[in-house]
Amino acid sequence: MRWEDICRRCSLCCYERTSFSDEVVINKSSPCRFLDVSTGLCSVYADRFRLCPECSKVTLWDAVAGDALPPGCAYIEWARRHHIRLRRDKRAVVEESL
Ligand code: SF4
Ligand code: SF4
Repeated sequence: MRWEDICRRCSLCCYERTSFSDEVVINKSSPCRFLDVSTGLCSVYADRFRLCPECSKVTLWDAVAGDALPPGCAYIEWARRHHIRLRRDKRAVVEESL
């Protein structure tokens, strides 16, 4: 399985988000300028990191820490399903049961 295959293309990470202590609010009226809202796909996918400074690669750390991704993101669910834990100081995998 490729890492990218985990993504379910929901596009929730391509909208403005505000984090509060107990919830994350996704502003569906404020999509990234490169998001094609009719398809939910990025219109500049191959070049997204160069063209969009706010866009960053989803890493294993993002999936486990969760705070860089919206609730319901398939990467967060995948990390929880596989019981992956990272040490915050070293960002090393300390437990994994695939
Ligand atoms: S540039 Fe990044 S944030 Fe913007 S639509 Fe593409 S993948 Fe989403
Ligand atoms: S929120 Fe997660 S599952 Fe949805 S498009 Fe973004 S990375 Fe993929």
